[in-house]
Amino acid sequence: MRIKNKMENKTKICVLCGGEFIGWGNNPQPLKEEGECCEICNARKVLPERIKQLRERLSKKEEEEVVIVKKPKKSLGEAVKEVSGNLNEMGENISKGLKKAFG
Ligand SMILES: [Zn+2]
Repeated sequence: MRIKNKMENKTKICVLCGGEFIGWGNNPQPLKEEGECCEICNARKVLPERIKQLRERLSKKEEEEVVIVKKPKKSLGEAVKEVSGNLNEMGENISKGLKKAFG
């Protein structure tokens, strides 16, 4: 137990701010390939950078998908669904109108 605590409490140097920290280090990628960074740098620098990169990747992916999606307008199944949905609605309106008129 004692040895483990000693290990965890070992002072480490943050590769991002150069400050000393105690406890578990954080992976500083993508800002640094090696070493460990402190909680503060992890929260303020590493995580926002990861989110930024993730967003960039996602927005690129979205652009690609939009290009692909643009080609076929609608699938047959979707078109049929939409039309039958409209027909149902029309039928409901007609029966409502008839009920009102001849009620
Ligand atoms: Zn730091």
